[in-house]
Amino acid sequence: MVTDGVTNLKLEMSMVQLSIILPVYNEVESIPHLLDELTPVLDATGRKFEIICIDDGSSDGSFDELKKLRSQDERVRIVRFRRNFGQTAAFAAGFDRAQGNVVITMDADLQNDPADIPPLLAKLEEGYDIVSGWRVKRWREGFLPILTRKLPSKIANWLISTFTGVHLHDYGCALKVYRREVVKNINLYGDLHRFIPAIASYYGVSVAEVPVNYRSRQFGTSKYGLSRIIRVILDLLVVRFLLSYSTRPIQIFGSMGLLSFTIGVAVGIYLTFMKLVYGEALAERPMLLLAMLLVMIGVQLVTMGLLGELIVRTYHESQNKPIYSVREELG
Ligand code: UDP
Ligand code: MG
Repeated sequence: MVTDGVTNLKLEMSMVQLSIILPVYNEVESIPHLLDELTPVLDATGRKFEIICIDDGSSDGSFDELKKLRSQDERVRIVRFRRNFGQTAAFAAGFDRAQGNVVITMDADLQNDPADIPPLLAKLEEGYDIVSGWRVKRWREGFLPILTRKLPSKIANWLISTFTGVHLHDYGCALKVYRREVVKNINLYGDLHRFIPAIASYYGVSVAEVPVNYRSRQFGTSKYGLSRIIRVILDLLVVRFLLSYSTRPIQIFGSMGLLSFTIGVAVGIYLTFMKLVYGEALAERPMLLLAMLLVMIGVQLVTMGLLGELIVRTYHESQNKPIYSVREELG
C-alpha cells in the first residue's frame, strides 16, 4: 500500500501537464528563437511540459537544428516525417503522442507570440474545452492588404462560423489550447486542422476566444498560396456534412431524392395528360427530358442515402464508436 502511494506520487511528479505541438516545415532559422522565447514562458507556468516538434519533411536542416535543441533540453521531443505530409498530419502526430492534460498548438515560424499562452491557459481554467487565439491586429493598413487579405479572411471566418454553428473570429489562428480529451477524440484528414473547434462541437465542447498578438514572418516563407481558399471551401463542405448528417445520410440524400423524384413524376403526369387528352407530341419537348432526369436523379439520391447508411454503420460499429458523447455519469 505504502509503495503504491510512493509510485503514485512519483508518477504524478513525472506527469507531463502541458504538451506543446509545433509543426515544422523548413523553419530552420525560426526554431531556435522560438524555443528561446517559449521555454521561459512555459517554465513560468510552473507546470511540467513537453514540446513536441514535428518535422514535416523539411529539407533545410530543420531536423538537425531540432536535434541540437533536444541535446540542450530533453523536454524537446522530435517526430520526423519521411516526407511532407502537411500541417494537419503534423498536428495529428502531435495529438497522438501528447501526454499532457492540456495540449497547445502553435506555428513554428514565430508568428504566434509565446507570451499569449498564459492568458489562454487561464481562460481554459475557467472551464472551457478549447480556447482559440484571435489575431486582432494582423493586417497592414492600406487598400490592397484590406482587399486581398482582410476581406477574404472575414468572409472565410463568417462562412465557416455560419456553416458550422461555431462562431469564431479567427479560424486561421494556429495558437489554440485544448483539453486533452478534445484532441484525443477527433480524427483529422485533409486540411481539417483549421476546423478542429467546429469538428469538436459535434461532441458538445465549449469554445472561447482570447485576443492574441500576431507578428509578421521574420524568416523563411509562407507554405501556402491562394489554393488554400479552394481547399478550405471543400473542407468546409465535409465538416458541415459530418456535423449535421454523418449519422443519418438517408435523411439528407433521401429528402433531396424524394423531392427530385416527386417533381419528376409530377412533370411526367402533366406531360402524359397533355399527350392523352390534347394529343400533343412529346418527342420534341425538353420537359420530357427534365422529367426523366429528375426521376433518375431522385432514385440515385435515395440509393446513395441507403449506401451512406451502410457505410455509417460500418464506420461506427467497426470502431465501436458511439453515436453520442457523455460529459459525466452518476451512479
Ligand atoms: N507547416 C507544416 N507543414 C506544411 C505546411 C506548413 O508543418 O506542409 C507548418 C509551418 O512550418 C508553420 C505552420 O505550419 O510552422 C504554419 O505554416 P505557414 O506559416 O506557412 O502558414 P501561414 O502562417 O502562412 O498561414
Ligand atoms: Mg505563418
